[in-house]
Amino acid sequence: MTALPQERRIVTAIPGPKSQELQARRLAAVAQGVGSVLPVFTARADGGILEDVDGNRLIDFGSGIAVTSVGASAEAVVRRASAQLADFTHTCFMVTPYEGYVEVAEALAELTPGDHAKKSALFNSGAEAVENAVKIARAYTKRQAVVVFDHGYHGRTNLTMALTAKNMPYKHGFGPFAPEVYRVPVAYGYRWLTGPENAGAEASAQAIDMINKQIGAENVAAIIIEPVLGEGGFIEPAKGFLPAVRQFAADHGIVFVADEIQSGFCRTGQWFACEDEGIVPDLITTAKGIAGGLPLAAVTGRAEIMDAAHAGGLGGTYGGNPVACAGALGSIETMKALDLNAKAKNIEAIMKARLTAMAEKFDAIGDVRGRGAMIAIELVKDRTTKEPNPEAAAALAKACHQEGLLVLTCGTYGNVLRFLPPLVIGDDLLNEGLDIIEQAFARI
Ligand SMILES: *Cc1c(COP(=O)(O)O)cnc(C)c1O
Repeated sequence: MTALPQERRIVTAIPGPKSQELQARRLAAVAQGVGSVLPVFTARADGGILEDVDGNRLIDFGSGIAVTSVGASAEAVVRRASAQLADFTHTCFMVTPYEGYVEVAEALAELTPGDHAKKSALFNSGAEAVENAVKIARAYTKRQAVVVFDHGYHGRTNLTMALTAKNMPYKHGFGPFAPEVYRVPVAYGYRWLTGPENAGAEASAQAIDMINKQIGAENVAAIIIEPVLGEGGFIEPAKGFLPAVRQFAADHGIVFVADEIQSGFCRTGQWFACEDEGIVPDLITTAKGIAGGLPLAAVTGRAEIMDAAHAGGLGGTYGGNPVACAGALGSIETMKALDLNAKAKNIEAIMKARLTAMAEKFDAIGDVRGRGAMIAIELVKDRTTKEPNPEAAAALAKACHQEGLLVLTCGTYGNVLRFLPPLVIGDDLLNEGLDIIEQAFARI
């Protein structure tokens, strides 16, 4: 297999005729509830390029939603997963175990924040990891309440829908939702009424006050937060917010869970985003970037908390599948070998400089934010009122797609354009993608 050329190439309309044919078959056979951002059907992908079935090569600023940080066919992932595939595909770790699972748990203990004794349990999806973090926290504390935050996203299963803030499209019509879930404010600096400089202190005080008044700290099993909120709009909680909430949890015997499913594994220029303010979570949930595209998720945390669930209480048929574990070991090997934390910081430097310059020219850009290769622009109709502009986000995304740049939108108001390039993308492709964004602004 020859390496995929790292060059954008547009040879048909986007989507092209073969993609359109496949899309027609897909619409007849696949439930419409499963959407696609851009219906170009993929033939190959690696580095910063996605090649479609019509031979177009798109620049990838999505990484399959922050998954293929090492590329979508990284050498070490392919090598290790292929070797494992040839040896055996599955035994079920709960039936007869295998070394790869243990190696992934050891790697997670080494890489996650804190030098306390740690243990892990592996699962298939991010939502499953979050659900299990709740099970473990409840077993450990013998309490029931779970506190989550405005703009938070934690998945699409019943419990994680309850934990997720946004109704449309994640929850609408799918209730009733799991009980004992409480939502409190987060320090969304750009939209905090008294200004970003006050957001950390005020939002944490409000959140803690609500917990005390409405739930009672002694009833709370877990506080779950994304250290950088992903689907909610790449919101970095204003400085001071996370340490205050973390301290409150520690003071009241509440399990503090960092949901690093999107922000983890070098995405923000650190192994985990909570390191930025020196936060050491009790439990950390990971998935997405962990295994170079193979389905794997984990809960990692303090050994005494992880061991609170009775034997047989955690698991699942496929959880920690051996091929996915091999992929994770290949992905982690690549992150270390290529120093992808440094790469993420380089991506941040290039993107922030270019996007900040664009913000001087284009009034629709209300905010440029994010860390590492998790960067976003929030679009507004008016910089004073900050009225969200989801139409501009959709129009920009469409204009980028037509030029062969895959970008994603997000945000509670649907007005955030987010950029999640693979961490192995070259500077030339990164800049070319930014040129396309700039031209798209000029056009709309
Ligand atoms: C994507 C995501 C999830 C859910 O992961 P799935 O693998 O889609 O179930 C949970 N939390 C965060 C922060 C996410 O970004």
